[in-house]
Amino acid sequence: MASYEAVIGLEVHAHVKTSSKLFCSCPTDFGAQPNEHVCEVCAGMPGALPRLNEKAVELAAKAGLALHCKVNAYSLFARKNYFYPDLPNGYQTSQFSPPICEGGHLDVTVNGDTRRIGITRIHMEDDAGKCVHGQGGVSLVDLNRAGVPLIEIVSEPDIRCAEEAAEFMRQIHAILVYIGATDGNMEEGSLRCDANVSIRPKGEARMGTRSEVKNLNSFRNVQRAIEYEISRQTACLEDGVPVLQETRLFDAVKQMTQAMRSKEDAHDYRYFPNPDLPPVLLSAERLAVWREELPELPAPRIRRFMRDFGLSGEEASALISDKAAADYFEEALAVYRQPRRLIGLMQGEFLRECASRGISPAEAPMPPASLAGLAAIIDKDCISARMAHEIFPELFASGTSPEAFVAERGMVQVSDAGELDAVLDAVFAENPVEVKAYRGGKTKLRSFFVGKIMQKTQGKANPALVNELLLRAFSL
Ligand code: ADP
Ligand code: MG
Ligand code: ZN
Repeated sequence: MASYEAVIGLEVHAHVKTSSKLFCSCPTDFGAQPNEHVCEVCAGMPGALPRLNEKAVELAAKAGLALHCKVNAYSLFARKNYFYPDLPNGYQTSQFSPPICEGGHLDVTVNGDTRRIGITRIHMEDDAGKCVHGQGGVSLVDLNRAGVPLIEIVSEPDIRCAEEAAEFMRQIHAILVYIGATDGNMEEGSLRCDANVSIRPKGEARMGTRSEVKNLNSFRNVQRAIEYEISRQTACLEDGVPVLQETRLFDAVKQMTQAMRSKEDAHDYRYFPNPDLPPVLLSAERLAVWREELPELPAPRIRRFMRDFGLSGEEASALISDKAAADYFEEALAVYRQPRRLIGLMQGEFLRECASRGISPAEAPMPPASLAGLAAIIDKDCISARMAHEIFPELFASGTSPEAFVAERGMVQVSDAGELDAVLDAVFAENPVEVKAYRGGKTKLRSFFVGKIMQKTQGKANPALVNELLLRAFSL
């Protein structure tokens, strides 16, 4: 049995975060009534003239800069012709040659192994509308989405496994969110990808025939669909059945891909320059400004969090993959500089609470200073980590300062040795049998005494101090 290797290239489509469409001033808001955001341009009326949205160009160029591409000073819009009921112009306005960005790369790490994946090109294009298939065999067309700006990021066929493809997609997502190019909302379809997959015998330089799995809308589906394709195509080759060049769809319920249509060739689109749109010209000065405006990107931010805050690679990557979480963490650190305590509270309490409420850290009612305050009063032994865990959901929702919160409930931990000694004496007096047994060598009874002391103090005794006092009392 020969051993095969997978060859994978991704085409990632991202909705670009502009307030108006790519060639008209209709809003891009999600969730409007059908056909509420439509004008003669995005409805494809004859004679209506498109005007390019400058912000969309800026965000496409910034995506290119973040992915180490060459941003072209001159690029063109083309008509990509095909017929579809939700495509009122009869063509998609896209970029063919030259596109806005070419020739970049992204370093992707899987299981500690870093590989450089080439970026072939990034181009701008407009989205189509949507067909709604209703009752009685009637189909309706909603053009709210028609004309919404997209960028397409095309990778070289450099990816070698499903996990690497999912990680590539995750990193593209993070980068685009960091630079503000997309809101990254995968449920609303802000980021989708097509996966091109082929198989070849190991050591073979030529690429095999590929299938293209369309419209994958989650990292998990990217991974599953590619895993399925690799095993399907491997089985084909082993059985001597040729792999067909075709477009396939992933069924997330059945966890398999299914043939949709055999692949039309690119020239069928009859690309030609759009006569209604002048070339896109970008000056070196303007590009320099945009480069200057790029924020710190995820990869260097991960390195900085590891270096400056002592986080592990995993902790830093997990935190930074959600920009809002990483920003929150840094704001809390500015108030109380104790990264180990704060990362513990972030992972153990705060992010869990956000996830269970389905909100972003940016929307949390608890401000970063409160998380910092909580870390500080735990470190000062005012409350124990267990008490912090118990009050966390309520504290999170209240938005009040943790100091005020625990004071109001009289929860301040007893860390006063004199006060606790008195409690110890009372517990010893009430349990003479156990005291005798302990002194006789049954030291396992220590947890019994800890329990009694906690009971007497309603859980407010500082556990470390209780242990210390018990050891001291028994060693006398
Ligand atoms: P289109 O899908 O529009 O025909 P391309 O031919 O440029 O566009 O290919 C798109 C994607 O397919 C790119 O990401 C490229 O790396 C990838 N690709 C091309 N050929 C193969 C192949 N034989 N196996 C796997 N991926 C491929
Ligand atoms: Mg394609
Ligand atoms: Zn419009």
